[in-house]
Amino acid sequence: MAYDRSNIFARILRGELPCKRVYEDDYALAFHDINPLAPLHVLVIPKGEYVSMDDFSATAPPEAVAGFFRAAGETARRLGVVESGYRLLANNGADANQEVAHFHVHIFGGAPLGRMLNKIEAR
Ligand code: AMP
Repeated sequence: MAYDRSNIFARILRGELPCKRVYEDDYALAFHDINPLAPLHVLVIPKGEYVSMDDFSATAPPEAVAGFFRAAGETARRLGVVESGYRLLANNGADANQEVAHFHVHIFGGAPLGRMLNKIEAR
C-alpha cells in the first residue's frame, strides 16, 4: 500500500492541522487523541512516511525505529503513567480497524484499563 500524503497525521506533521502536543523530537510527534478512549489517550507517530506497523518494521532504518520507541517511552514518562502503568497498542490493517494510514501507536493510561482484549472467536 503506497503512502498517501493527504492522511490526517501527515497533515498534522506539516502543521496544516492542529494537535495537542505532548512530546516531539527528530523522530516522532506525540499528541492527544481527538476521541480519547481512556483518561489519557495519546498517539505517537514517526516523522517518516510509513503506512503501518508492517511498513515501519520492515522498511524504516534502525535509527528511526529506535528513535520512535525511545520517543514513545519518553511520552509515557512525560504523561506520568510509568508508575501507575499504561498500555501501548498499534492497529495494523483491516482486522485491527486501522483508520489512519500513517503508522502510530496509542498510549492509554490514567485509570485501570482492564484486560488487554475481550476474547474474540475465530471467524
Ligand atoms: P487507528 O484506528 O489505530 O488508526 O486510530 C486512529 C486514531 O486517530 C483514532 O483513535 C482517532 O480518534 C484518532 N484521530 C483521528 N483524527 C485525529 C486528529 N485530528 N487528532 C487526533 N487524533 C485523531
